[in-house]
This record gives sequence, structure tokens and C-alpha cells, in this order.
Amino acid sequence: MPSEWREAPPGDFAVIGDPVAHSLSPRMHAAAFATRGESYSYEAIRVPPGEVAEAIARLRSLGYRGLNVTVPLKSEARMAMRTVGEFAARCDAVNTIRLEDLYGINTDGAGFLDTLPAFDRKSALILGAGGSARAIALALALDGYNLRIFNRTAERAISLVRELGIDAEVVDNPAPQDVQLILNATSASLHGESLPISFASAASGALAYDLVYGDTPFLRAARAAGLKTLDGKALLVAQGARSLEFWLGGVAPREAMMEAIR
Ligand code: NDP
Repeated sequence: MPSEWREAPPGDFAVIGDPVAHSLSPRMHAAAFATRGESYSYEAIRVPPGEVAEAIARLRSLGYRGLNVTVPLKSEARMAMRTVGEFAARCDAVNTIRLEDLYGINTDGAGFLDTLPAFDRKSALILGAGGSARAIALALALDGYNLRIFNRTAERAISLVRELGIDAEVVDNPAPQDVQLILNATSASLHGESLPISFASAASGALAYDLVYGDTPFLRAARAAGLKTLDGKALLVAQGARSLEFWLGGVAPREAMMEAIR
């Protein structure tokens, strides 16, 4: 059961968010520590928006060494840091904190790139313009991808491109022609909803990627059209592995982490 931050037990690592009960991170990190022969604890702790700085100070005083931060606290967490990594500052989102020196970084962008195959042409269509789309769009742009972004609310996609200062085309139709990666960074799949996209015109060998865990309507439609697919567990493991390596060094056991949440 997740704790409320005011009643949190002493511990080593935790994920903070609201809600946080559904998080797979405690199970995934417990498997990582066990595989590495370490006996650290990893809790799920609920922190409501507006209480992040106070909660971080409390967890630090309880002896915690590191935190992961999930929705909707990543921007607020950035404000509570003494030092922020360059990528986290640019996308205004901290997902990993070292408490000793209040150093915050973002492992979502690099973690996402870790999960991609080597494409012959770096081109992507991103569906969505929320917090996750933001970090991933920045990572893809910095990695040299040609980007198209479609969002239900177009103004949000336009603001995302402007605020990140990246080169990306905001489109009014999610047509997947000529791209190697089609990323669903919306929360539509969370509610079992489909998006208005047809995969019939997608390039052969394209990858459909949904940030939501498991088999979603988006991934089923892509698979039916012959595309390769990946779900959000790949990113969960990749960003978590990078967090663990930031806190403790060494190499995180990605396969054991994936096995624990499969
Ligand atoms: P946000 O709430 O910041 O953004 C939600 C996005 O989804 C917006 O672009 C919104 O469009 C769009 N959207 C929501 N419902 C629909 C719909 N029915 N049809 C079309 N578009 C829709 O969410 P996040 O960016 O934080 O997260 C997005 C998803 O990614 C979530 O499902 C989350 O669970 C998942 N996620 C997975 C992670 C992982 O490790 N695998 C990590 C982080 C997130 P609009 O602007 O028009 O409202």
C-alpha cells in the first residue's frame, strides 16, 4: 500500500506522485536491488500537488537517498531542486532526484531513446502534447529526428514546439506516411479509447509505440496492419534503470526489471 508522505516510513528510495498506488516502480526496483545483491527499500508515496518541496524535505530527513517523480509532480519537483540537469531544465520536468544534494534530472528522454531500434531514417509522428510528449519530443529532436506532432488540441502542440525551441511540424491530421516511429503519447489508451489514425499508409518496418502499458487498441490496430509494436513498459524499465544508475552507479539489470513487471 502506498503511504501518505506525512506518514511515510524511513527508507532508501521511493516514487512520489498523485495517484501513485498503481505504480509498478516499487516492484521493478525491488527486483533490481535483489539482482544486484542490495537490500535497499523502495516505497510508493503519495504527495499531492503543492506539497512537493515540503514532502521532499521530510523524506530527506527520514534518510531517503533518491526519488522518482511521476505525474503530476514533475514540473513542481524541478522548482524544489538546488541543481537541475540541462535536459530536465529544458523540458521543465524532473523525474529523478538525488536527495543528498537536491540534484534533479530527467531520465525519460534518454530512456525513451534507449528503447528504440536503429532506424535507417530518423523520422517520427508523435500523437499528444502533454508532459510525456514534451520530454520525448525534445529527446527525439536533439537526436536528429524529423518530427511531426499531432494533438487533439492543436494549440497545445504549437505551444510545445515553441516552448521547447525545436524544429517540428504541427499537423492537423495524424497520417503516418513516411515515418519510422508512430508514438502514442496521449492518455487515450488508458480509457480504452482509439485514436483517429489509419495505419494502412504506414511505412513497412515502422514501429508503433504506446506509452500506456499492455496491449492497447492503438497497438492492436497497428499490429493488424503489419507494424511492429512496443508498449509503455519498455520506457518504464529504461527510465527506471537510468535513475538507479544515477543514484547508485553500476549497471541496472534491465531484464530482471522487465521480468518483474511483465
Ligand atoms: P498529459 O495529461 O500531460 O497529456 C495527455 C495527452 O493525451 C494530451 O495531449 C491530450 O490531448 C491527449 N488525450 C487525452 N485523451 C485523449 C483522447 N481521448 N483522444 C486524443 N487525445 C487524448 O499526460 P502525460 O503526457 O503525462 O501522459 C500521457 C500517457 O503516457 C499517459 O497515458 C501516461 O499513463 C503514459 N505514460 C507512460 C509512461 C511510461 O513509463 N510508460 C511515463 C509517463 C506517462 P489534449 O491536449 O487535447 O487534452
